[in-house]
Amino acid sequence: MAPTLNLINKNLYQPSLFINNEFVPASGEDFDVLDPATGETWATVASATAADAERAVDAADAAFHGTAWRQLTARERARLLLEWDRLIRANKSDLAQLLVFETGKPLREAEGEVDYALTFCWWMAGEAERQHGSIANGNGPGPAANNRFLVTKYPIGVVATLTPWNFPIALFLRKAATALAAGCTVVNKPSPETPLSANALAYLAREAGFPPGTINILPCNEANTPLIGTALCTHAKVQKVSFTGSTPVGKKLAAQCASSLKKLTLELGGNGPFIIFNDADLDHAVAQLMICKFRHAGQTCVCAQRVFVQSDIYDRVVELLTARMQAELTPGHGLDPATTLGPLTTPRSLDKAQAHVSDAVSRGATAITPVTVNSSLSPAGYFFPPTLLLNASDAMAVASEESFAPIVSLFRFDTEPEVITRANNTSMGLTSYVFTSNADRIWRVMETIETGNVGINVGLTTSAEAPFGGWHDSGYGKEAGMGYGIAEYLKVKTATWSVNWKAD
Ligand code: NAD
Repeated sequence: MAPTLNLINKNLYQPSLFINNEFVPASGEDFDVLDPATGETWATVASATAADAERAVDAADAAFHGTAWRQLTARERARLLLEWDRLIRANKSDLAQLLVFETGKPLREAEGEVDYALTFCWWMAGEAERQHGSIANGNGPGPAANNRFLVTKYPIGVVATLTPWNFPIALFLRKAATALAAGCTVVNKPSPETPLSANALAYLAREAGFPPGTINILPCNEANTPLIGTALCTHAKVQKVSFTGSTPVGKKLAAQCASSLKKLTLELGGNGPFIIFNDADLDHAVAQLMICKFRHAGQTCVCAQRVFVQSDIYDRVVELLTARMQAELTPGHGLDPATTLGPLTTPRSLDKAQAHVSDAVSRGATAITPVTVNSSLSPAGYFFPPTLLLNASDAMAVASEESFAPIVSLFRFDTEPEVITRANNTSMGLTSYVFTSNADRIWRVMETIETGNVGINVGLTTSAEAPFGGWHDSGYGKEAGMGYGIAEYLKVKTATWSVNWKAD
């Protein structure tokens, strides 16, 4: 029998819109949310329409200009974030369960996502108080010597956050906690596959004391997704959009934001090179590759996509990887404690994964599946067997597109200059990984690789303490880090003051 949702705190299940601190009916039709492990409906949610987006923006705009929010000090906003943090922590097991049903990921990973998400509440509570301006002297001879410059910072206003289905809690909190710390208000549109976890967080935000209108959520079906995207990106009252998702959608949203010159943060796809040199600690490199590649069944933007292995250690790496996959990967329903690998989240992802393997094999790769998917699992679930593609080459689709699936494509290389050229031969530039014990090589690779983030002897890099964001087609703008993430939600004013030095 398929597992069913069983929350301790039933209030966290809210299948409607959240506007002005109320769960309210939507104007659109209801839509089903499917469990990716069984293909069965586990929730039915009301879909927002563009008219609902208008109501949500009005609520966020009124809250932004209203005294209940504007008169809070940064310390008071930080306290709200910490209370939200406390409530999320107290409801962690329920939130993790919602994530399992929404995304298919194993429960342990879902709990890890909530823990990771909480680091943003905590970090941004600290950031709230530290957004100071500056005072500068005028320089040089002439009239400018009298000038003093006062630089002050202000919240940008209403922010639209468009969040994806792979980390619905972490990526919502990464954006919302930052916006709220800065003093902005938020309208969030979750992905149609994962509409409930954001509402659960909104419920807890209201419990924490956030004033009406500061957080608004617009769950919507697939058909209404572009309509709401357009409504938010073109709305005169929305000052900023932050999107995580695919590069084609990111480009579309950037074009829509252009007419009103909205500030935009785009965290898009990657094509991560994961380079293992022959002087690396191979056991460690393969252990890190397992974490990097198989977390959420390979559906992460920072995933190792092209694993480059130096020729003389290629066979050894394949051997180590095969052994670890057999020992560590158990496909199953996320609620089964034995599961370490869940299904893909969408049927589209399954089609793409199959197409990648077929393309690679037709171009000369060998596909091996060291772990099979147990036939007792629902055939309607979106399970894809963890697959190794040996002898991958740069002409294959896996060299230029994200698989977003548990497929490890293993490329051979001979020299450092060769692998750097090949690693950089992509329009994407999100995260790269290098494994070597040579300190000079670390420095050379770190400086020449064209990605916004580099893992050096580590396969998991993102963290609240460090700025995160891509280069090139992987997007622009940073999230998290000291000063970087919050700066995206602030506007800066420079006042120039000419001081008259003649005293009375
Ligand atoms: P997609 O391009 O259809 O959608 C990506 C995300 O954008 C989804 O959350 C979707 O709901 C949303 N979206 C789509 N059209 C939109 C619009 N007009 N306005 C606002 N939001 C919109 O892709 P998909 O099939 O969901 O995923 C395919 C690929 O997207 C993946 O293979 C991966 O490369 C990429 N992706 C990246 C991330 C990431 O973390 N950067 C997350 C999810 C998907």
